[in-house]
Amino acid sequence: VLITLEALEDGPLPFDEVFAASKIDFAVAGLRQTAPLHVQGTASAIEREIHIRGGLTTQVEMECARCLDPVVRAVKSDFDLFYQPLDESPEGNELVVPKGEEELGFYSGEGVVLEDVAKEQVLLSLPMRTVCREDCKGLCPTCGINRNRETCQCKPTGGDPRWAALQNL
Ligand SMILES: [Zn+2]
Ligand SMILES: [Zn+2]
Repeated sequence: VLITLEALEDGPLPFDEVFAASKIDFAVAGLRQTAPLHVQGTASAIEREIHIRGGLTTQVEMECARCLDPVVRAVKSDFDLFYQPLDESPEGNELVVPKGEEELGFYSGEGVVLEDVAKEQVLLSLPMRTVCREDCKGLCPTCGINRNRETCQCKPTGGDPRWAALQNL
């Protein structure tokens, strides 16, 4: 879904779209869209700057950082974004940079692709590191079993650093 500058010439336009599960490709290993993504809001233009404001909800599945089990997360994100034409940006980069309370991005061509906006917002809403639960024991570094489900006989490697510190006293 392309929101073009031309379409906004006569005034703000509401949008309300649903992208089916797996429609959005996050291009991040282990991250999948497992429920429809619903995005709605309003787009408007101030000269050649496109302003997109709204919210989205979806559900994603990713890997636990410790045990690699799938973790399902509901995503809800509100956004207020400004996009300038890429040819007017001095550096030509597409990074979204903070602009006070809002965020500023760039678009190339005729306008902003709504799927890309949604993708970016989902990625921004996710934590740097996801664990299936706070006390996840992770995988055994020696034999690789999931220590949440099984116990192995491997000897601990290195030991607890707190004990090592005490021994050095
Ligand atoms: Zn885990
Ligand atoms: Zn083991």
